[in-house]
Amino acid sequence: MNYNKNLIKVSSTNKFLSIMKIELSSFDDKITKFEKTFQPESLGLEEEGLVNPIHLQAKIIKEETGRVWLAGEIKSKAKLKCDRCLENFNKEIKKEIRLLFDPKEEGNKQEQGTFIISEDTLDLTKYLRDSLLLGLPSKNLCSPDCKGLCEQCGANLNITTCQCGSDNIDPRLEKLKKIKSKMEE
Ligand SMILES: [Zn+2]
Ligand SMILES: [Zn+2]
Repeated sequence: MNYNKNLIKVSSTNKFLSIMKIELSSFDDKITKFEKTFQPESLGLEEEGLVNPIHLQAKIIKEETGRVWLAGEIKSKAKLKCDRCLENFNKEIKKEIRLLFDPKEEGNKQEQGTFIISEDTLDLTKYLRDSLLLGLPSKNLCSPDCKGLCEQCGANLNITTCQCGSDNIDPRLEKLKKIKSKMEE
């Protein structure tokens, strides 16, 4: 596919607030394709664990009605810490982007994964940022069946086994049990 890499001008400032502005009505063609790569810092996302450059691939589709669609995909890679075993792991972050510029709309809103906007000059930065944040997992797991850490000795049960055994009662639980049975008396 032929993507026009020079179509969108990216300013060189560090401020992620407006690294990418598009004037939607300025597109004459029915379909315009483009792609762009950013550093996570330019979107203020370095603290979210994104390690790879963020890659955007999209097309702008102009309808005869005056509406303009921006549809594409944004991709990166994040270095995350597993919630269960606390090990670092890499995960590909991928999110579909769907944006509709509708001059008849009032204000901006989000509907079923589509950002609907009414202003012609679009600052893509916010939408890219929001999309990437939505693409991050809500639960960080190195694998769906991660065994986690032993609650008693802290061993990583994905790589080792321990002698704690599952029938031993956690002393903290034992205490709670006593309190509970006292309360029920
Ligand atoms: Zn894990
Ligand atoms: Zn153990």
